[in-house]
Amino acid sequence: MKNKKAEKLVKERIRKFTPYEISQIDEGEIKLDAQENPYAFSDELRNEIKGTITDFSFNRYPDPSYRELKNMISAYCGLKSANILVGNGSDELILAVLIAAAGEGKTVAAPSPTFSMYGILSTLTGSRYRETTLGKDFSLDADKLLSLNADVTFIAYPNNPTGNCFSEKEIEKILISSDGLVVVDEAYYEFSGKSFTSKINEFNNLVILRTFSKAFALAGIRAGYLLCNEDLALQLRKAQLPYNISALNEEILKVILSKRREILGTVQVLIDSRKKMAEKLSQMPGIKVYPSDANFILLKIDRTDDVIKTLEKNKIRVRRFSEKRLKNYLRVSVGAEKENRKFLKALEEIL
Ligand code: PMP
Repeated sequence: MKNKKAEKLVKERIRKFTPYEISQIDEGEIKLDAQENPYAFSDELRNEIKGTITDFSFNRYPDPSYRELKNMISAYCGLKSANILVGNGSDELILAVLIAAAGEGKTVAAPSPTFSMYGILSTLTGSRYRETTLGKDFSLDADKLLSLNADVTFIAYPNNPTGNCFSEKEIEKILISSDGLVVVDEAYYEFSGKSFTSKINEFNNLVILRTFSKAFALAGIRAGYLLCNEDLALQLRKAQLPYNISALNEEILKVILSKRREILGTVQVLIDSRKKMAEKLSQMPGIKVYPSDANFILLKIDRTDDVIKTLEKNKIRVRRFSEKRLKNYLRVSVGAEKENRKFLKALEEIL
């Protein structure tokens, strides 16, 4: 075989692509960088999950249409199974939407700053990714976004990393006037309590994304779901792999959904912690706290480098950004009370 260089064996698009790097987490670090739910499941719940493995059919493929799982998601979100697609994390569903509706010659749009995966997966699928800038208070201008004439528009609601929910009216304006799909990403829905689910039959271009990674404390298993009208669901399903969710994950999800009251009890705890944290932070000099509808807070900090150094020294991980506009900003997830206290203490020390 001819000796070919690896770069020559892949497309130019891949060659030029800078992968999404996630740095390794060290033992004992306080993780406030990825919006995970810090609260572990009870022993009772863990035992119930273990029980599903006892007579698990490892040799069989999963139910191809994930009927039981979809029925349980349906009971949770109040829509029919025919309105639901399940995904291996909502990232996989973002990719499915792009495979179905974007790619070469198509335009994907989103306001900036927002969740980086919209841009990354647009580039990977060969789509043209265009952004409009959010206002000074991170508000959304529908007309600006509409002027990009996108085939797919992504709106995170609440937005990551800014934490705010955009005006419902502005989003509706986009839904009404856009000729393309409009994806409203409700990854943090349980914390905001705000949703577009009641509008999926009113707007046939509306796609809603949800995840089990945040409020449901299941970031480790990778699971999310997509909601839209029935016809669109049939089309989008074509862009997914068969058996895209492992049967083991399906079993875990079914246990968690049947015990969802217990798990979602942590949502109010985290909202209360967020409020306390925001109040304390806003009393510190040199910090601007942005209002949040999610389980994280965006902060503008004068001495970002010093703050990061101090946090690193205290083994506390928060999120920084490469975008110019967010140079002096940090995003901190709301952790367990003890973790939040350590974070606040470290900040107090330096500021
Ligand atoms: N959407 C938004 C807005 C997010 O912030 C995230 C995770 N950071 C995701 C989607 C991805 O979630 P998942 O773990 O389900 O892939």
